[in-house]
Amino acid sequence: MSARELVVLGTASQVPTRRRNHNGYLLRWDAEGLLFDPGEGTQRQMLRAGVAAHDIDRICVTHFHGDHSLGLAGVIQRINLDQVPHPVTAHYPASGQHFFERLRYSTAYRESVDIAQAPVSADGILATTPGYTLSAHKLSHPVESYGYRLVEPDSRRMLPEKLAAHGIKGPDVGRLQREGSLNGVTLAEVSEERRGQRFAFVMDTRLCEGVHVLAEGCDMLVIESTFLDEDVRLATDHGHLTAGQAAKAAQEAGVRHLVLTHFSQRYSDPEEFERQARAAGFEGELTVADDLMRVPVPKRV
Ligand SMILES: [Zn+2]
Repeated sequence: MSARELVVLGTASQVPTRRRNHNGYLLRWDAEGLLFDPGEGTQRQMLRAGVAAHDIDRICVTHFHGDHSLGLAGVIQRINLDQVPHPVTAHYPASGQHFFERLRYSTAYRESVDIAQAPVSADGILATTPGYTLSAHKLSHPVESYGYRLVEPDSRRMLPEKLAAHGIKGPDVGRLQREGSLNGVTLAEVSEERRGQRFAFVMDTRLCEGVHVLAEGCDMLVIESTFLDEDVRLATDHGHLTAGQAAKAAQEAGVRHLVLTHFSQRYSDPEEFERQARAAGFEGELTVADDLMRVPVPKRV
């Protein structure tokens, strides 16, 4: 199993279909799991995908439409039933506080787990851990919607041949890393920058500044493409994207792996989303998401 991967739990917008459950996505990031937009049926999709309640450390909800949040009731109760031993933090638009609380306490159950409510009320950083910084940026939808972006800190890779050329070895390597220079040799001379991985989750929105900010330089971008390009009027009116719009934004942002999802039930041929994304000029890796698919985050460059 890849240490960093996206587990797709559902891919339908508004109405589930025979083949597509409502939304739900678990991002595995080393030892952590982030659950995005649990729609109705997420608990059962987790079972089918091999995701346990214990795998969830953080829940991120973009907005309070049912296809992105009705699963909260079941998932939160399951976290409690399974007595998940670690704290779980939930992020969601602050304007939907009452929706979150209603879903959290929609029926009776024994509450045993500390779920920290961390509502989002402005663009910016939500959390910093050793593995990533999580931030949110506002999107454009009829109800308040925030996209999420996860950025791993940059690091440096030591270059063995350069170290050898300067005669630096053993404990001196650690000293150089800590102090930045050793006997006139700087860290920059014997190492190179290794850019951290970047992931973004963009859903539901029409084209807006937030889409571009979130997508910038992402190794993986999971983005809604509810509509095909011929229905761009509908997309704009209802606050959604077409396959071509999502793909063009991803290409401009330099995205390496684009994952399209949140499809309208009106379309029967998923390949058309791929064709339109390619026609819009997207050159990276492309996945038209399907339920229960696992998509590895591309290796660090
Ligand atoms: Zn939706």
